[in-house]
Amino acid sequence: MSIADNLARIRTALPPTVTLIAVSKTRPASIVTEALAAGQLDFGENYAQELRDKAELLGPGPRWHFIGSLQRNKVKYVVGRATLIHDVDSIELAEEIGKRSGNTPTAILVGVNMGEAQKSGVPAAGALAFARAVLGVPGVSLRGLMTIPPATEDPSGAAPFFEELAALAAAGRADGLPLHELSMGMSHDWSIAVAHGATLVRLGTAIFGARPLVSER
Ligand SMILES: *Cc1c(COP(=O)(O)O)cnc(C)c1O
Repeated sequence: MSIADNLARIRTALPPTVTLIAVSKTRPASIVTEALAAGQLDFGENYAQELRDKAELLGPGPRWHFIGSLQRNKVKYVVGRATLIHDVDSIELAEEIGKRSGNTPTAILVGVNMGEAQKSGVPAAGALAFARAVLGVPGVSLRGLMTIPPATEDPSGAAPFFEELAALAAAGRADGLPLHELSMGMSHDWSIAVAHGATLVRLGTAIFGARPLVSER
């Protein structure tokens, strides 16, 4: 199956309300070009310098999402290039993003930690209070929540976590928080995430095939 075939097959199964993010981390810029040619616009990166390098190389066209856990000293590589930063989990990080954003606020999601799978993220119990605090940070624009559920034997095991994230966002909205985006679902569990209200799914393997093994950065 080609990248174009994979994209076409996945798009057919996605409601129009869901944005497909092609996760291009650790892969060469040429695959981004190939996906762009097949009409794919949104791309996900986990490493700040890699996002910067690909963005500089490819210029206008792709919309970049930073989906990894972001260190404060690397915010400068991402702000101004990423259309959305997915995993904001500390006020200090939100403040650094805001400070670097100048007059153009950067759209962010709050990363919610639902278990040991996610090294980053705020605990679900504190997520709405944290989101409220983020609202007060100048230079960032809060859009929603993101999670990576703990690994389960069967992808359907992720369902309760997706449900919980959707319920959190709904509770936040009822309380006036602008939590309209739900970034949840990866190659193995995206259809379950979509069934539970995902608005952004992050797919690497399902589009590009198995990732080359790389050491932790
Ligand atoms: C790598 C990664 C993905 C994509 O994973 P696949 O299993 O290849 O679809 C999605 N989200 C995050 C946060 C990732 O780090």
